[in-house]
Amino acid sequence: MRNMANDLQKNWYSILDAAPTDGLQELKQKYQRLVLMFHPDKQKPGLSEEEADLHLQRFIDVDQAWKVLSNEESRRKFDLQLRAHELKQRWPVDACVTVEDMNWDSGNECYSYSCRCGGEFHLEKEEAEEEDSVVCCDTCSLSIEVKRST
Ligand SMILES: [Zn+2]
Repeated sequence: MRNMANDLQKNWYSILDAAPTDGLQELKQKYQRLVLMFHPDKQKPGLSEEEADLHLQRFIDVDQAWKVLSNEESRRKFDLQLRAHELKQRWPVDACVTVEDMNWDSGNECYSYSCRCGGEFHLEKEEAEEEDSVVCCDTCSLSIEVKRST
């Protein structure tokens, strides 16, 4: 798990009322519909200042969302951030340890670490060698982030 995704500020898909599986064409339609709805030049007369501000903010967000998602490279980057963010949301990270903090279980050929619930975290040797990973407890819903040894 990379650290960049801890603070996802805006979900561009929700702003466009879209899903990560939507194709470019669908995104474009949703973008165009919202842009028409919130464009400063298209506002109905009699809108309160507060509403006008709100619409302007939505317009800026929608515009930014389209810029990010219509570009293949920036969309791919955002998808990665989103996935990492969702992973952390689903499994609250209880602690961050390094492989050295874990116990080597030679019988099972894996690393283990005690959870405060009394259960255990297990990390396969290959996984430990590959990259930082998030490991779930075998008993409760906690997880730990394991950093590669340096
Ligand atoms: Zn546990």
